[in-house]
Amino acid sequence: MINIKNNFIDSIGNTPLIKLRAASEITGCNIYGKAEYLNPGGSVKDRAALALVKDAQEKKLISEGGIIVEGTAGNTGIGLCLLGNSLGYKTIIVMNDNQTQEKKDTLRNIGAELRLVAPKPYKDEGNYVKVAQRLAEELKNTNNKGVVWANQFDNIANAKGHYQTTGPEIWEQTEGKVDGFVCSSGTGGTISGVSNALKEKNKDIKIYLSDPKGSALYNYIKNGELKSEGNSITEGIGSSRVTKNFQNAKIDDAFSIDDNEALPILYDLIQNEGLSLGTSCGINIAGAIRLGKELGPGKTIVTILCDKSDKYNSKMFNKKFLEEKKLPIPSWL
Ligand code: PMP
Repeated sequence: MINIKNNFIDSIGNTPLIKLRAASEITGCNIYGKAEYLNPGGSVKDRAALALVKDAQEKKLISEGGIIVEGTAGNTGIGLCLLGNSLGYKTIIVMNDNQTQEKKDTLRNIGAELRLVAPKPYKDEGNYVKVAQRLAEELKNTNNKGVVWANQFDNIANAKGHYQTTGPEIWEQTEGKVDGFVCSSGTGGTISGVSNALKEKNKDIKIYLSDPKGSALYNYIKNGELKSEGNSITEGIGSSRVTKNFQNAKIDDAFSIDDNEALPILYDLIQNEGLSLGTSCGINIAGAIRLGKELGPGKTIVTILCDKSDKYNSKMFNKKFLEEKKLPIPSWL
């Protein structure tokens, strides 16, 4: 018997690299996307969920019957809930109410308890991350199997998961020939873990942040100042602060990517390459193309294909919504 996975946990990771044809042709480089959408929960965040749960287990903070509480844009919540289901944990998710209905429905359908809050800045006590932290604290005395706040933004177990798995996988899959890695940052777990793993193998590998408009990280990398401008319909990426995970990332430089640059790439990939990818992938691939142009032909560049477009139907394929935002519309709508 070959390629048998024993359970949910075993089927996380070891995702393929997929060559992105148009991106490679435009740049003369080999541009590969790591197909993280093939994880069992449908996103790159299954890796973070596993790393955070393992951390809680190792610290003996949770056992069967316990509760995981987390503030999330959705994907970490889906990963945590499915993983929790497979281990006998209950999951409570705190999420901003402006995230897509698709993600809210999925979380409820897989059994998460969903608490929606109005979006608030991080400094506000009503911010979803702070609400999740307080909720876990309040519930602590109600469950003797453990109540854990996963804390994906500032628990560096998240980046460690990528350092131990995603980074080494990219190194091995490219047989050490990777010249550049580019991706966006939400918690910073992916870019921190992958950058540290790759730089340890070869310090000359270029690591670039691909940041959506509305995020302060581009200016932070460029001139050390947390300042943002514009906005984006992407979800799960961008930040107004330097998280503990992002803090440890080894980043050489950054691109600021507008939705007007990212969305046509996603629509083109659907139509011509059969890849239906989520919004953050557009920011990532736009960054990979820019890095390819900067490094010159013949280079090998890797980015992350975080999730699929089906979580964003109500935005990516909603003509009225796109028209209102003055964004590109797929030609077939
Ligand atoms: N893309 C999507 C769709 C996500 O949900 C996330 C996580 N919030 C990211 C990218 C960013 O990954 P990370 O949190 O590891 O920076």
